[in-house]
Amino acid sequence: MRELRGRFAPSPSGRMHLGNLFSGLLAWLSVRSAEGTMVLRMEDLDPDRCRAEYADQLADDLRWLGLDWDEGYQTGGPHGPYIQSDRTELYADAFRDLEKRGLIYPCFCTRAERLAASAPHRSDGQVIYGGKCRRLTEKERAELGEKRCPAWRLMVPDRNISFTDKLQGAYTENLLKDCGDFIVRRSDGVYAYQLAVVYDDGAMEINQVVRGRDLLDSTPRQIYLYELLGLTPPEFCHVPLLLAPDGRRLSKRERDLDMGALRQRFTPEGLTGLLAFWAGQLDKPEPVRPAELAKDFDWAKVPAEDIVVHPDQL
Ligand code: GLU
Repeated sequence: MRELRGRFAPSPSGRMHLGNLFSGLLAWLSVRSAEGTMVLRMEDLDPDRCRAEYADQLADDLRWLGLDWDEGYQTGGPHGPYIQSDRTELYADAFRDLEKRGLIYPCFCTRAERLAASAPHRSDGQVIYGGKCRRLTEKERAELGEKRCPAWRLMVPDRNISFTDKLQGAYTENLLKDCGDFIVRRSDGVYAYQLAVVYDDGAMEINQVVRGRDLLDSTPRQIYLYELLGLTPPEFCHVPLLLAPDGRRLSKRERDLDMGALRQRFTPEGLTGLLAFWAGQLDKPEPVRPAELAKDFDWAKVPAEDIVVHPDQL
């Protein structure tokens, strides 16, 4: 059997919060229970949001909980660099390859124009791009190009992309109808998450991706990119999100649930016990180290639905 290679790929855009940690712990348990290799990659492509000090803090918070990694950020390894902002040249190569094959085109639409086009919206609130700039002539492209820096979109086919998620089950999306041509490079030159994540998981030989359920609907786009780049997609496990009692997602905005606050209130074992309880690995929350959980880790016990976190549990 081939070795399991999993990863945790956080964005250092603030202090880690409970939801990130939950995904990180599950990714780690899955790898450690299979004696595989764990990779830590920093997804810091958005220069407006990401900072180097957050990346260091993130690594420190993971170690505090008792999670480690065999390759990656601060550790190095054969597939480095493990910080996306140091990998821009690699994404540029992949981008040029798609460009040469005539698969991408410049898009001059502003955000306001895209919204005003009253295109239907996806369930996540994103606009389904109607393909306006796909139909521009070369002359129109040249004229618009003098006024504006374009974003670049990948042309998607009118075809269903299906996969079976380890936790969420069968999932299908028609890329053209449900998503539309999507951005692979932003107008400020930053390569988009979709392109970078597929390129990196491919290059780092990742064969299992564990991440939050909010990214489930990115997966068909990513599977299409795997196909275009000649790569085999990994197994996907989209884990539940942690929700506040009012149904909102716990996010980086909840400062009282970020790692700074949690480290003051919990021991690493106490917090691991709570996360493991939510993950279905313990009958009740009791202090435990991640390493002790790894031997009995069972994906079949992990719930598929989002988990409501009550303030009195914290
Ligand atoms: N960097 C993404 C995030 O922090 C996760 C990407 C992934 O796991 O594919 O939300």
